[in-house]
Amino acid sequence: MSEASAAPSVVLGVPAESRAGERRVAMSPAALGPLIKAGARVIVESGAGAQAGFTDAAFADKGAVIGTRDEVFAADVLLMVRTPDPAHEPTEVDRLKPSHTVVGMAAPFAAPEAVSALAAKGVTLFSLELVPRTTRAQSMDVLSSQANIAGYKAVLLAAEALPKLFPLMTTAAGTIPPAKVLVIGAGVAGLSAIATSRRLGAVVEAYDVRPAVKEEIESLGARFVELPLETGQEGGGSGAYAQQLSEEQLKKQQELLAKTVAKSDVVITTAQVQGAKAPVIVTQEMVAAMAPGSVIVDLAAEQGGNCAATVAGEHTDVGGVNVIGPVNVPSTVPTHSSLMYGKNVANFVQLMLTDGGFNRDVDDDVIRESMVIRDGEVRNNRVREMLGLQAIAEPAPPEPEPEPSAESTEVSS
Ligand code: NAD
Repeated sequence: MSEASAAPSVVLGVPAESRAGERRVAMSPAALGPLIKAGARVIVESGAGAQAGFTDAAFADKGAVIGTRDEVFAADVLLMVRTPDPAHEPTEVDRLKPSHTVVGMAAPFAAPEAVSALAAKGVTLFSLELVPRTTRAQSMDVLSSQANIAGYKAVLLAAEALPKLFPLMTTAAGTIPPAKVLVIGAGVAGLSAIATSRRLGAVVEAYDVRPAVKEEIESLGARFVELPLETGQEGGGSGAYAQQLSEEQLKKQQELLAKTVAKSDVVITTAQVQGAKAPVIVTQEMVAAMAPGSVIVDLAAEQGGNCAATVAGEHTDVGGVNVIGPVNVPSTVPTHSSLMYGKNVANFVQLMLTDGGFNRDVDDDVIRESMVIRDGEVRNNRVREMLGLQAIAEPAPPEPEPEPSAESTEVSS
């Protein structure tokens, strides 16, 4: 044990994940440096990184203390991949105390009851899924880092299940044409799936409701499927977020996409509108029109699925078409998922570290927006609504920066 310094250091605890099938860990040895440099003490549960390939010795080498589960839960701040949820692991919730700040993925809109259980324990909870998707917050965006991996792995799942090759092969035994892949939804996971399919040699088409992604799709060597949908000037939304389509628009989208789906060997679906149930884009009829042996990998399986035939966590044979609904895909690549997640967490926590102390109320939109519970009070109004609680007044946004004077913005012509 090192000598205690004059100012009490905040203690960050990294428990082993308890959720069934979860192989990631919330911190990596590589991400520890800046936290320790900022004055924090980090205690990692013995064996917490084992499934991600991080040994206790590797954590200790970078300055962490290795401890028991009890010692880790005595920390001030708990860094987790999945925050405690009584529906999965009641004993973990029992360990929480009002002094705890919990940082991790809480899925607050999918599991508001878990938020309620944590609030009853009096904790402060930061849900990393609510970190805004802004340029500044990119380095803390766990949804993006993990979706990148999911998009890559979705292609490998498809390639494994497809009874055909992905690349063009010209051999003495004949020429094999490349597989045809269609990616629906070209956000983070979709773009990663496009790039991976291209690397494997497939011919790739991609569709997204936001026409703004056309350029990105084409830069990866895929063809953008344009559908004449009347979604307004910005298509289904601009910037990082799409807007939900109306029932009528969705129906039109299904009709227009049907032919492209039918001729594809592989369809990878990643369409989502933040916080909403996944839109059903591939109908049962569209699946039936695909050739036997074709594969659908539905990354939105956990949000209800983009394909009507998807069963989350299952491979389903639908008239010879293999419909795969994988869950927790990033956990199947635990080393790199944890490396990226750990870096995201470290960047996030650093915003609140001050000379070895910890300030949860630092004036920062990333902190404000991701704070779901403060000292036992649910602060997020959407979660409050889901729990039947009255809305609370949002904290006033900080004063805007003064507008630069006309003189200073003038550009000489
Ligand atoms: P994202 O928000 O970056 O991308 C979603 C894309 O879907 C956006 O580009 C949006 O414009 C598009 N979209 C929305 N509605 C559409 C519609 N009707 N038709 C076509 N495109 C539409 O999201 P992401 O981070 O890439 O995640 C994509 C999906 O993958 C989500 O459902 C996410 O939960 C899922 N995911 C699953 C796993 C897993 O383990 N199964 C892991 C990571 C992500």
